[in-house]
Amino acid sequence: MFGLIGHSTSFIDARRKALELGYDHIAEGDLDVWCSAPPQLVEHVEVKNPSGKIIQGAYIDSCFVPEMLGRFKTARRKVLNAMELAQKKGINITALGGFTSIIFENFNLLQHQHVRRTTLEWERFTTGNTHTAWVICRQLEINAPKLGIALNKAKVAVVGATGDIGSAVCRWLSARTGVAELLLVARQQEPLVELQKELKGGKIHTLEEALPEADVIVWVASMPRTLEIDSKKLRNPCLMIDGGYPKNLDTKLSGSGVHVLKGGIVEFFADIGWSMMELAEMDKPQREMFACFAEAMLLEFENCHTNFSWGRNNITLEKMDFIGEASIRNGFSTLNLKSQLQAAAA
Ligand code: NDP
Repeated sequence: MFGLIGHSTSFIDARRKALELGYDHIAEGDLDVWCSAPPQLVEHVEVKNPSGKIIQGAYIDSCFVPEMLGRFKTARRKVLNAMELAQKKGINITALGGFTSIIFENFNLLQHQHVRRTTLEWERFTTGNTHTAWVICRQLEINAPKLGIALNKAKVAVVGATGDIGSAVCRWLSARTGVAELLLVARQQEPLVELQKELKGGKIHTLEEALPEADVIVWVASMPRTLEIDSKKLRNPCLMIDGGYPKNLDTKLSGSGVHVLKGGIVEFFADIGWSMMELAEMDKPQREMFACFAEAMLLEFENCHTNFSWGRNNITLEKMDFIGEASIRNGFSTLNLKSQLQAAAA
C-alpha cells in the first residue's frame, strides 16, 4: 500500500474541507483547536497502471496548515503524528507532501524517531523529490522548444539552486540537457560555491541579475508572498516553471511573452476515483497530482519499498533515470504548456 501525507493550502481552506468531510467540531475551531487536532486518514484509493497492476493507497491529512509554520513544536508534532499514523496503518511507502518534507528536513526530525510507542521506520517514507526534480527537467526539455527557445543556446536560471530539488535539477540540466548556461540563485553564498564546484560550471547570480538574462526560470524555492516581479524586465519569450509551493507565480505575472507552467505536476493516463487532488486545486483533479505523491505510487508499483528520496542533496542522475523510467512505464506524463492552455480555454 502507498500513502500520501498532505495538508490544506490555508486555514480557511482546511476549515471548508473539514466541513465537507463532516468533521464539524474541528471545522468550527480556531487555529489553537487545529493545532491540537490529530491527523486523519481521509481517503482510500485503488490505482491500476497501463499493464493492469492494481495497488491500494491512502491519503492522510496531517491537519497542518501553513499558518502553523511559525509554531515550531506544532509543525513538528503534526508531521511526526501523520507519519506515525501512516506506519500504524501498515502503509509500505508514504510520500511527505507539501510543507511536510521541508518541515522534516529543516526541523531535523531524524532526531525524533520515537513517537509515543512507535519507532518510525524511515524506509517507509520518501520526500518524493527525485521524481519532482526529474519531472521539472522534462517539463523544461519539452516546453522550452515549443516557445522557440533552443536549449543549447538558452540561459536557465534555477532559483533555489542549492536546495534538494534545485541541486538535482542543476545536475541534470548540466549533464543531460546541455543548456548553454546555468544561472545559480539562492541566498547563501557558500552552498552556491560548493554547487558550482560540483557542476564544474554555472554562474552565481542574485535574483535581480538572473531574471532579465534567463530564457527559462525554474523556481524551486518557496518565495515570499510579497515578492514582486516586473514582467517587462523578463526576456520574450520566457518560460517560467513554478516548482515551488505554493504555486503562485501565475498571479504575479502577466504579459504575452511570459509563459508560466506549474512545475512538478504529473498527469496519470486514466481517471483515479479520488477527491484528494480537488483539495490541491488541480485543473484535472482525477488525473493530475504532485510528482512527489506520484513517487510513492511508483515505488509501490515497482515493489521498491525504500526511502528512495531522503535527506538533502542526495539525488543522483541514476536515481532520476530510475524514477523517470518508472514514471513513463506506469502511465504518468508531465504537465505541459499545451494542456494548461486547453484547460484555461475550457
Ligand atoms: P530546500 O529547502 O532543500 O531548498 C530551498 C532552496 O531555495 C535553497 O536553495 C534555498 O537556499 C533557496 N531559497 C529559499 N528562499 C529563497 C529566496 N527567498 N530567494 C532565493 N532562494 C531561496 O527545498 P526543496 O528543494 O525540498 O523544495 C523546494 C521547493 O519545491 C519548495 O517550495 C517545496 O515546497 C517545493 N516542492 C514542490 C513539489 C511539487 O510541486 N511537486 C514537491 C516537493 C517540494 P537559501 O536558503 O540559501 O536561499
